[in-house]
Amino acid sequence: MAFLQLKSVGQTYFSKQTATTALEDITLSVSEGEFVSFLGPSGCGKSTLLSIIAGLLRPTSGTVTLRNQIIKEPHAKIGYMLQQDYLFPWKTIKDNIMVGLKLQNCLTKERIDYTFSLMKEIGLHDTLDQYPSELSGGMRQRVALVRTLATSPQILLLDEPFSALDFQTKLKLEDLVASTLSEHGKTAILVTHDIGEAIAMSDRIILFSTKPGRIFRTFPVSGHLRKRLPFEARQHPDYSVMFQQIWEELEQIEQNDTE
Ligand code: ADP
Ligand code: MG
Repeated sequence: MAFLQLKSVGQTYFSKQTATTALEDITLSVSEGEFVSFLGPSGCGKSTLLSIIAGLLRPTSGTVTLRNQIIKEPHAKIGYMLQQDYLFPWKTIKDNIMVGLKLQNCLTKERIDYTFSLMKEIGLHDTLDQYPSELSGGMRQRVALVRTLATSPQILLLDEPFSALDFQTKLKLEDLVASTLSEHGKTAILVTHDIGEAIAMSDRIILFSTKPGRIFRTFPVSGHLRKRLPFEARQHPDYSVMFQQIWEELEQIEQNDTE
């Protein structure tokens, strides 16, 4: 049984005058504990697909199932993290990280302690009484990660969570997110347009083509890279080989696009 299964998922956006097909015939499955990246040029439907998996958007065709249950609406089992951290500026960090638990009515001592332990793990335990404006962009994304993990989702959906950060912060955060997710055995889907990030972080990369968004190619990442943290993976010879290969495929997608 596949953990997450997408069957012939399609999405067309309708307006009064136009119909835009953002996604067509997306079929894929993700195993429990797997880290998959959706890679592709802007506009190929990556965020649309993530919203569908999150249950925020009903696909115009096809189905998404998590452990054989059709996803029809947002779900506590699914955690969603975006480019912007969406922390509430008027709440302390402590109140921000408890938001999900509060909404789900499960502010038990056990859950609260677990959330504090996550804050310790990511090295921000001493910021609990501060406000988001007092933290750097990278720190805020780490807080957003804790908030997402606090409710123990079975799957994490990450939509370009590092793209607003400077390069050094991004590299550090990639390692932190990768190690935290693997320690907690989480399944994750990362949306990115950054080839290097996809290679360094994933077990498998799914490359999308545009107009409409379709699966163009799937690349398994070598064991050598998978067993390393992202920063170290970037130094491995397999990394540049794979980078070159995906780069060429992306060039082809862009060429097809302009034809
Ligand atoms: P990506 O995340 O890969 O950049 P998106 O999923 O945001 O791509 O968008 C895919 C396509 O769907 C684009 O052509 C975009 O303009 C269109 N689109 C996205 N959201 C909407 C919407 N709410 N209404 C109409 N068209 C949309
Ligand atoms: Mg997007």
